[in-house]
Amino acid sequence: MGAGRIERLPFAGGKPMAERMLKFVSVAQGQPDKRPAAERSTDFDEIYRSFAVAQAEQQSSRCSQCGVPFCSIHCPLGNNIPDWLKMTAEGRLEEAYALSSATNNFPEICGRICPQDRLCEGNCVIEKGFESVTIGAVERFITDTAFASGWVEPIRPPVERALSIGIVGAGPGGLAAAMQLREQGYQVHVYDRYDRVGGLMVYGIPGFKLEKDIVARRHLYLEESGVKFHLGLGVGDRDEDGQIAFATLRDRHDAVLIATGVYKSRDIGGPGAGLGGIVKALDYLTVSNRLSLGDTVESFENGELNAAGKSVVVIGGGDTAMDCVRTAIRQGAKSVKCLYRRDRANMPGSIREVKNAEEEGVEFVWLAAPEAFRGEGTVSGVRASRMKLGLPDATGRQSVEPVEESSFTLEADLVIKALGFDPEPLPTLWGQPDLAVSRWGTLRVDHETFMTSLPGVFAAGDIVRGASLVVWAIRDGRDAAAQMHRWLKNTAPARAQAAE
Ligand code: FAD
Ligand code: SF4
Ligand code: SF4
Repeated sequence: MGAGRIERLPFAGGKPMAERMLKFVSVAQGQPDKRPAAERSTDFDEIYRSFAVAQAEQQSSRCSQCGVPFCSIHCPLGNNIPDWLKMTAEGRLEEAYALSSATNNFPEICGRICPQDRLCEGNCVIEKGFESVTIGAVERFITDTAFASGWVEPIRPPVERALSIGIVGAGPGGLAAAMQLREQGYQVHVYDRYDRVGGLMVYGIPGFKLEKDIVARRHLYLEESGVKFHLGLGVGDRDEDGQIAFATLRDRHDAVLIATGVYKSRDIGGPGAGLGGIVKALDYLTVSNRLSLGDTVESFENGELNAAGKSVVVIGGGDTAMDCVRTAIRQGAKSVKCLYRRDRANMPGSIREVKNAEEEGVEFVWLAAPEAFRGEGTVSGVRASRMKLGLPDATGRQSVEPVEESSFTLEADLVIKALGFDPEPLPTLWGQPDLAVSRWGTLRVDHETFMTSLPGVFAAGDIVRGASLVVWAIRDGRDAAAQMHRWLKNTAPARAQAAE
């Protein structure tokens, strides 16, 4: 899998392009079928069905093959979208797969969970008069077809190098880097404190957006490609059972990549904030994902992280909040309300996900923020006040302020806090005071070399960027891998040469 961009061809198959493509005038946009809300809200299976071959070809043919493709410009990976759409429209799926996987390590995952409305599809130029090309659904279709057809071959590097790389974190950032470095022939070892590969793709994002076997399929593929996984092994400040010291890792490998994501939940204070039944979003989602994977989890069995029969209030307006409300519906909650201090137009979560949540029975309480939690020992209600939008701040985002004497109380026996995440303090946790961090606690890297303040230690993904997206973690992982290869060739030329 190379990273090179393939030149676009105006004609193919001897047929003028206009006859095969530019069908957006005559063919309406068609998304893959969505399972009815009543059916999908009782299970954790994906809600969108796959395209059939004919649908994928027809939808791809709507692309107008722009000379300057804004879809690609707004894809963090710079995917060569018009060309793989054209190949799909022409039934050249194996070539479409080769092209799509040249720039994206996990196209079948991005096709499912990228917020396309803000990225590629939101910038498709035919969107103004006609709805955009369904880029994400086609991207997913191409790689799912490739797996089903046996076109996805494990990596077989042309040379094996003796140099070894340690990657901390088996999320999309770490895994994309692992693939890229394995292709260069490095001996790649991935360490993760979780027992499964995928990071937030397996324990954060619920199955109704991304089924777990899609991620497990990539784990197997990486193992078959020669990547070695050390699971259930956290990196810390010393070697002990279930933990390896960061210093040991540095000794063991020629270069190290930190791709540990961000996991410290932002908290909420106020009277009653310590009551039972007020839980963190990621704890709640991780348990639910474990159940989907067949694990037995005590905190679900004892009702602590189980929404069944409860009045649930989720606080927050991002994608994590959307995943929590929709999980609670599937667990059989009595009612599910989402409390968000801004309005629908100003929420950070994807509009598509809000719509899905509403269809499934979630009630949104816009322009409302919690003031206090009521209850004795365990929460029984959330007291909130109405908010109003003020003037835009320097970033253009409207400020919010409370409306006087507007308090009201929502019944709640499970409150889920989904207010975002910050990085864990790695320099302290890992006994590495020289590992430089920004004022937000994210790792500082040189933006050209991706190297941290420690020589030979690189970083990528959310731990550098702050909470972001899978597609950005992939991009960072790829870029960091390229820089690590460059650095190793320059600093360890003798060993690199000897092994080739
Ligand atoms: P992560 O995916 O967080 O992976 C980091 C890995 O490092 C984890 O496996 C962790 O166990 C491991 N690790 C951490 N510390 C240590 C340590 N000390 N030792 C060993 N291992 C360690 N993005 C989208 O694009 N679309 C979505 O729909 C979407 N939905 C989301 C829903 C939720 C609930 C959440 C929380 C996030 C969502 N995101 C979504 C964001 C996306 O999941 C992240 O941006 C992305 O996973 C970041 O990738 P990463 O590789 O940097 O880190
Ligand atoms: Fe669109 Fe994401 Fe695919 Fe890029 S990776 S084309 S943004 S779905
Ligand atoms: Fe095709 Fe839309 Fe991209 Fe233009 S912007 S090349 S129409 S997908």
